[in-house]
Amino acid sequence: MGFKAKARKHRKDGDSDKAETKKKSNAGELPCAIKGCEKFADKSLGGRSLSLDNALDMWGESNFTPSKGRVRVCKSCYRSWKKENKNDDTY
Ligand SMILES: [Zn+2]
Repeated sequence: MGFKAKARKHRKDGDSDKAETKKKSNAGELPCAIKGCEKFADKSLGGRSLSLDNALDMWGESNFTPSKGRVRVCKSCYRSWKKENKNDDTY
Protein backbone atom coordinates (compact mmCIF):
# COMPACT_ATOMS: atom_id res chain seq x y z
CA MET A 1 0.00 0.00 0.00
CA GLY A 2 2.83 2.37 0.74
CA PHE A 3 4.29 1.21 -2.53
CA LYS A 4 3.39 4.20 -4.65
CA ALA A 5 4.67 6.79 -2.23
CA LYS A 6 7.95 5.00 -1.98
CA ALA A 7 8.48 4.91 -5.72
CA ARG A 8 7.74 8.57 -6.01
CA LYS A 9 10.28 9.47 -3.41
CA HIS A 10 12.90 7.50 -5.17
CA ARG A 11 12.29 9.29 -8.44
CA LYS A 12 12.50 12.69 -6.87
CA ASP A 13 15.95 11.95 -5.57
CA GLY A 14 17.50 11.47 -8.98
CA ASP A 15 15.77 14.40 -10.60
CA SER A 16 17.88 17.21 -9.30
CA ASP A 17 20.98 16.71 -11.39
CA LYS A 18 19.24 14.99 -14.26
CA ALA A 19 18.02 18.24 -15.77
CA GLU A 20 21.50 19.49 -16.32
CA THR A 21 22.75 16.36 -18.00
CA LYS A 22 19.86 16.45 -20.40
CA LYS A 23 20.55 20.01 -21.39
CA LYS A 24 24.14 19.19 -22.13
CA SER A 25 23.44 16.31 -24.47
CA ASN A 26 21.00 18.42 -26.44
CA ALA A 27 23.55 21.00 -27.43
CA GLY A 28 25.62 20.43 -30.52
CA GLU A 29 28.79 22.01 -31.74
CA LEU A 30 27.82 22.99 -35.24
CA PRO A 31 25.29 25.80 -35.34
CA CYS A 32 22.65 25.64 -38.03
CA ALA A 33 23.64 27.82 -40.98
CA ILE A 34 20.18 29.25 -41.43
CA LYS A 35 19.79 32.73 -40.02
CA GLY A 36 17.39 33.00 -37.14
CA CYS A 37 17.64 29.29 -36.41
CA GLU A 38 19.27 28.43 -33.12
CA LYS A 39 19.42 24.71 -33.51
CA PHE A 40 22.43 22.59 -34.21
CA ALA A 41 23.51 20.87 -37.38
CA ASP A 42 25.59 18.14 -35.79
CA LYS A 43 25.32 14.81 -37.48
CA SER A 44 24.50 13.18 -34.18
CA LEU A 45 21.50 15.47 -33.91
CA GLY A 46 20.21 14.74 -37.38
CA GLY A 47 21.83 17.68 -39.11
CA ARG A 48 22.57 17.63 -42.82
CA SER A 49 24.61 19.60 -45.25
CA LEU A 50 23.02 20.97 -48.38
CA SER A 51 24.70 22.34 -51.46
CA LEU A 52 24.80 26.10 -51.93
CA ASP A 53 22.34 25.88 -54.79
CA ASN A 54 19.84 23.99 -52.73
CA ALA A 55 20.04 26.45 -49.88
CA LEU A 56 19.81 29.39 -52.25
CA ASP A 57 16.58 28.08 -53.70
CA MET A 58 15.07 27.61 -50.32
CA TRP A 59 16.27 30.47 -48.15
CA GLY A 60 17.81 33.07 -50.44
CA GLU A 61 21.33 34.38 -50.58
CA SER A 62 21.48 36.42 -47.40
CA ASN A 63 19.61 34.08 -45.13
CA PHE A 64 22.25 31.48 -44.44
CA THR A 65 25.96 31.19 -43.82
CA PRO A 66 27.76 28.74 -46.09
CA SER A 67 30.94 27.01 -45.04
CA LYS A 68 33.34 25.54 -47.59
CA GLY A 69 30.73 25.38 -50.28
CA ARG A 70 28.22 23.55 -48.15
CA VAL A 71 25.40 24.71 -45.98
CA ARG A 72 25.03 22.88 -42.70
CA VAL A 73 21.46 22.79 -41.54
CA CYS A 74 19.76 21.30 -38.53
CA LYS A 75 17.28 18.50 -38.69
CA SER A 76 14.20 20.69 -38.80
CA CYS A 77 15.60 23.03 -41.45
CA TYR A 78 16.54 20.03 -43.54
CA ARG A 79 13.06 18.66 -43.17
CA SER A 80 11.44 21.87 -44.32
CA TRP A 81 13.84 21.99 -47.24
CA LYS A 82 13.00 18.44 -48.16
CA LYS A 83 9.32 19.23 -48.06
CA GLU A 84 9.83 21.91 -50.68
CA ASN A 85 12.08 19.75 -52.76
CA LYS A 86 10.44 16.44 -53.24
CA ASN A 87 13.14 14.85 -55.26
CA ASP A 88 13.22 11.24 -56.32
CA ASP A 89 14.05 10.10 -52.86
CA THR A 90 12.47 6.74 -53.48
CA TYR A 91 14.89 6.00 -56.28
ZN1 LIG B 1 18.03 25.12 -38.57
